[in-house]
Formats: sequence, structure tokens, C-alpha cells
Amino acid sequence: MTEPTRVPPEKLDEAQISGAGDMDPASFRAAAHATVDIMADYLEGIRERPVLPQVEPGSLAPLFASVAPEAPEPIGEILADYRRLIEPNVTHWQHPRFFAYFSSAASGPGIIGEMLTAALNANVMLWRTSPAGTELEQVVVDWFRQGLGLPEGFDGLLTDTASMSSLIALAAAREAAGTDAAAQGLPARTDVPKLRVYASAEAHSSIEKACMTLGLGRSALVRIPTDDQFRLRIDALERAIAEDRAAGYLPIALVGTVGTTSTTSVDPVAEMAEIARREGLWLHVDAAYAGAVALIPERRGPFAGWELADSIVTNPHKWFFAPVDASLLLTRRMPVLRNAFSLVPEYLRTLDQAGPVRDYNEYTPQLGRRFRALKLWIMLRYFGLEGMRHRIESHLAMAARFADWVDGDPDFERMAPTPFSTVCFRYRPASLAATQDEPAASERIDELNTRLMDAINKTGKAFVSHTRLHGRMVIRVAIGNLRTQDADLVSVWQLIRDEAAALTVAPPA
Ligand code: PLP
Repeated sequence: MTEPTRVPPEKLDEAQISGAGDMDPASFRAAAHATVDIMADYLEGIRERPVLPQVEPGSLAPLFASVAPEAPEPIGEILADYRRLIEPNVTHWQHPRFFAYFSSAASGPGIIGEMLTAALNANVMLWRTSPAGTELEQVVVDWFRQGLGLPEGFDGLLTDTASMSSLIALAAAREAAGTDAAAQGLPARTDVPKLRVYASAEAHSSIEKACMTLGLGRSALVRIPTDDQFRLRIDALERAIAEDRAAGYLPIALVGTVGTTSTTSVDPVAEMAEIARREGLWLHVDAAYAGAVALIPERRGPFAGWELADSIVTNPHKWFFAPVDASLLLTRRMPVLRNAFSLVPEYLRTLDQAGPVRDYNEYTPQLGRRFRALKLWIMLRYFGLEGMRHRIESHLAMAARFADWVDGDPDFERMAPTPFSTVCFRYRPASLAATQDEPAASERIDELNTRLMDAINKTGKAFVSHTRLHGRMVIRVAIGNLRTQDADLVSVWQLIRDEAAALTVAPPA
């Protein structure tokens, strides 16, 4: 490789020439203003971009220098390269027709919050290291608690993801069961039976991962079968717990999901709470996606019983319009979380502190913590709870409309109820309806839907994802992006039907 030519000094900032200190303030101001313009242009023009970049795996890394530059480069060129190399080659989560997975759209005020967070660079590990970060987190957690209609006994904290929140909850459940695993670990303990956690077959993989990470092992998670609406079956849960107790296992926790990942189904949380009480188990509720709906008092039906949970997770970075990352873990048992994670070496003690304070690192596996409350505080104030409710309602209405369109089309079939804003359906041309239960036809329908999803996504006009339900390939349209308008919904439905019509369907064998 030839040595890159050095940039002439007149093109560099003062700090780059002197080789000392940070970017100088005037250069920072100018570059940051230019960056805001780039951000605003990106968001303004996002609708015109293909949702999925039309790139092949491995094609991007070669566009970048293979070694870090020895010499400084002008910020203007770096930002130009950002526009040229990064923007066109990301999957556009901010796009109004991003309907895949669960939407995770970042709002303007949330983005502003991220900018300020980066400037402060406050590490919210101790009260001392970020007094406002700590106390604002307490305030914002309580704003959410009240907004979601949960009782005063709930406290909590912010983490990066629902996966981390659930891991913390299950670590607390492990302590609450009297294992003292935080101090003694679990391997080769003769005084602690093998532990068991119960969740439905539809529960998110993060629960299983938490069991892996916590040393319980994946086999500790008992997957309880679901009913015809993908909800955990209480009879099967009761039987599994009884059989496990008889076999010498120690049940420690139940995980109920309100809004499962595949279909957004809702487990019978109130009944699970009763079992948890009777059996002395920790109840964790995973409402990572659907929790936002509980901001609307009239729509709290599916959440009945979650106020009895020991812990609840919901993700502001999913349907609350916060930029990634932000997960909210609420719990009625903060001291147990602390038992699970508190470790205070000398260098973290604050020697001159008046009065007790909250040091959030004592409740989490990691020490360093981002100041996530700032963006949430800005965002909640900007929209107001009213504004949040209004936007969530509009997504629910869009999903109901989309479900109606699917139901009204003889060539399509809805594959699950739509309790929130995600519609699960498949293409099942009327010509194949009569034979759909025969294995050959069933496979053909699966294959058609795989091709259909691929065709939709290749157009770049929308991005949808899939799941499997009862072994069948199902397409999901998840609505939850602030920028999605009725016209986007109309156009994606048209796109789906056009692409389906263009598929060649082999006649029944
Ligand atoms: N729980 C549910 C129900 C989810 O749908 C998801 C992700 O979509 C998660 C947990 C994991 O979320 P995270 O990516 O924040 O760990």
C-alpha cells in the first residue's frame, strides 16, 4: 500500500496541527452545526431512500481504509465520507416503511437528548459521578411508573436493553429464592437443587440467554406450551411446576410476556401472579414492546395483573420513540436487585458523602452507565404523555385497518390475533386454499411467502420480517414508527398484493 498523502496544514484545525488537546471550541461548534444539518437532511429525505440498502455482505468493509490513518484528516472530509459511505449503506430504522421486527424509531427530541448526553459524557455509576444523572433517573423512572398506571411500590432503573433488564430480574429471582448464588455461585453446590424458570414457548430468546448467562443453563428454562392464541397455558404451567418439585428441582421464577415477539400475544399475567404468590416464585413481566400501550388508561386490559409482578421490563427504545438504547426495569424489590449485584471496592466508596444516596451500579452487572434519563426526560416533556398516547393510538388504529384489509382479501390469511400494532399474515392464494392442510400444499405456501417477503424487501420500498407459527411461514408487519403515515400503510399493502400477484404459483399437484 502506498503511503497516503498528508493533508496540508491549512486544511486542518488548530488542535490537529498542534497535536495536543481536543478539537478546538470554534471548530467543534462549526462541525457540530454542520453535523446537525446532516442529521436534519437525513431525516427529511429518509422517505426517498430504499429501506434496506441494496448491498451484499462483505462489500462494505473494503470501502474503508484497512489501517487507521497516521496523520490527521479534516473533519469536513470525514463527514463527507460519512454521507457517502455510511448513510446509503445502513438499514433505515427511521424509515416510515420499516415494518420489520419491532419498530425502534428515534424521535427528534430523543436525538437531541443523545447529543447532549454525549457532550456531558457523564457516567452514572455513583451518585457522586453524576448527581443529576442519578436523581433524574429516579425522577424519570417514576414518571414512567405513573404514566403506565403502576402503583407506588415500584422503583427501578434504566439499562441498555430488555435482555439486560430481564437478566437483572432473573439474577434477583435467583437471590430471592435463597440460593446466595451472588456469593457462592452455583456449580457443584450440593445444598441447592437445580433451578427452574418458566416462560411460554413464545417468550423471547433473551429469557433463555439470561438463564445461560446466569449459570442456570438453557435447560433451566421450561418452555410452557401456548393455546390457540399463543398465550401461555396455565394448566400446563401448574403441571410443570408440580412435576419439577416432585423431581427435586427448585422453581424460582415465572416470566409472563405482554406482547410476544412473534405475534404480540398476551400471557394470562393475573393468573400467573396468583401462581407466583402461591408457589413463592418471582414474577417477571416482559412488556418490552407492548408496554407503551399501558400509557393509555383505557387500553390497560391486557396488562391486568402486571402490578403484582416482582419486576417488569419495557423498552423506551421500542415503541416510546427513544433512540437506542434505553430499557426500563421496574421492580417492587430493589433491595433484592442490590443483593444480587452490590459490590463496593474501596476505590468506589465516597468518603465525604452526607446522607444515603443511590449508587446505581450496585443494581447492575456493569459499573459504567450511560445517562439515559436525559433523553427520556427531554422526550417526555416534548411530547407530553398526551402526545405519546396520541401517537400510539394512531399506530393501533393503523394496525387494525391493516388487519381488516388482510381479512377482507381472499388470497391472504391472518395468522394470529392483533392485540397491538403488529399484524401476522400470509399469502394463501384462493387456488391453494382447498388443499392448504396437505403437506405438499402447505410447503408450497411457505415457499411462496418466503419468496414474497424477499420480493417485497428487494424493492426497497418497505421492510417486513417473518416468523413461524405452528411451523408455518408468516409475514409480520409491525407498526410503530413516528413517521409512518396512512399513505405508507396503503402503499405497503398495495406493494404486498402486487408482489404476490407477480409470483408464479404452481398449480396444486
Ligand atoms: N422481549 C421481547 C418481547 C422482545 O420483543 C424483544 C426484542 O424484540 C426483547 C425482549 C429483547 O429486546 P432487547 O433488544 O432490548 O434486548
